[in-house]
Amino acid sequence: MSAGFRRAKIVSTIGPATWDRKVLYQLIEAGTDAVRINFTHTSTERVTHIVQLVAEVARQLGRPVAIIGDLRGPKIRVGDLPGDRLDIEPEESYWFFPEGEDPPEASPPGRRIPTTYPELAEEVEPGTRILLDDGHFEFIVEEISDEDPRWVSALAFSAGVLKPQKGINLPGVRVGAPALTEKDLADIEFSGEQALDYLALSFVRRPADLETTRQKMDRGCLLIAKIEKSQALENLTEILPLSDAVMVARGDLGVELPYEEVPMIQKRIIRLAQERARPVITATQMLESMIESPHPTRAEVSDVANALLDGTDAVMLSAETAAGGYPVEAVRTMDRIIRRIEHERLGRTGRAGKQVEGVSQIQQTTSGAIAAASLIAVERVGSPFIVTFTQSGYTARIVSAQRPSVPILAITDQWRTYNQLALVWGVKPVMFHGGISYTSMLDKAREVALELGMGEPGQRFVVTAGVPFHVPGTTNMMRVEEL
Ligand code: PEP
Repeated sequence: MSAGFRRAKIVSTIGPATWDRKVLYQLIEAGTDAVRINFTHTSTERVTHIVQLVAEVARQLGRPVAIIGDLRGPKIRVGDLPGDRLDIEPEESYWFFPEGEDPPEASPPGRRIPTTYPELAEEVEPGTRILLDDGHFEFIVEEISDEDPRWVSALAFSAGVLKPQKGINLPGVRVGAPALTEKDLADIEFSGEQALDYLALSFVRRPADLETTRQKMDRGCLLIAKIEKSQALENLTEILPLSDAVMVARGDLGVELPYEEVPMIQKRIIRLAQERARPVITATQMLESMIESPHPTRAEVSDVANALLDGTDAVMLSAETAAGGYPVEAVRTMDRIIRRIEHERLGRTGRAGKQVEGVSQIQQTTSGAIAAASLIAVERVGSPFIVTFTQSGYTARIVSAQRPSVPILAITDQWRTYNQLALVWGVKPVMFHGGISYTSMLDKAREVALELGMGEPGQRFVVTAGVPFHVPGTTNMMRVEEL
């Protein structure tokens, strides 16, 4: 199985193109390891339905699939527009004002842009750039009124048709909006009822954003910090320990910052996250042309490969699977690229992934030391896989962060951990039903390994675990056993 086992994982965003049962089945069968449901575009009824379908399909295929709920967060948006459109003309002034209020008297009809953020006038100044619709429209603030309600006039630099509900970015502005909106709070509660595996927090700015969110989440759910603001990059070393995983959200990142900054930022986030054993998802526009075409561009293939060579745990499909014409082909394409790159790395170096370079704090913990030692043991005894016994998934994540050359068989008795580990690089989750003891889990590991053809009877293999089993985060034991 070692050769056939793909280490990096695939996240597919679910939307109208894929929420049909048959397509969802094909999407998961083709290699989706985790699905993302975007709360911005999905009703709670629909989420409930998707969660049920994913669980059914996963059970049918005998595979774990992680479910990620993506919170909308404090994204500022354009409000409703009369006729559902507004023509933007360059060198013309437009008036931004709070949605639901009367438009500014000075503004001619056809030049009015309602926004969902009443505090806009307090946070910008003349010269501030306002970007709409992922940066397709650029404005520069000219005047800020003291009238009640306050408005902002800005000069347009682009042409086109603006649609309602498009996102607004204010690059470099320290937006004061709270981390969670009323909608996010309702979505967090709902996610707890649905027992989602991960929640992704959009527009993280400060460590406190994660602390606030964590307090509201149910305990077993893991928190993904979406890194898409320059403020998050400034605070990255404090944000990482407070999150369970991170997402390089390149869509907004490339609007908040000049897009040429994104490639190096991606490498930095991946490196720092891996040093701290936080799985990383690289996201957005990875196979963008496959929204409309069954084939990727060569540049897209290289982009996916580059993220893998950077050491990402997972690559994500967004509109390609949510709204595109070729969702299943997009997953197959990801699968092909990952396998090719991993074949190369395994063949050349005997290691499947990029190694952590520095020795971070986490690697100096007992768990980190055991994980590193297990890698050495794997090489010395020729272990064809590593077994981890894990309740919270922590042991498996910390071993994964070492990027071992062999698959990690993660045996757990927790359904949520089983699904959560589907997102983690190199991990093959195995569900264990029965009384927990070292010997019973070892028997399970042997049974699965032989069934999957991962080794020959008599061959030695490495086991890591935290004993006692029910205390999370205490990886403290390594043994060498025989198949
Ligand atoms: C992004 O901005 O890249 C991203 C992943 O966020 P969303 O798709 O929620 O806009």
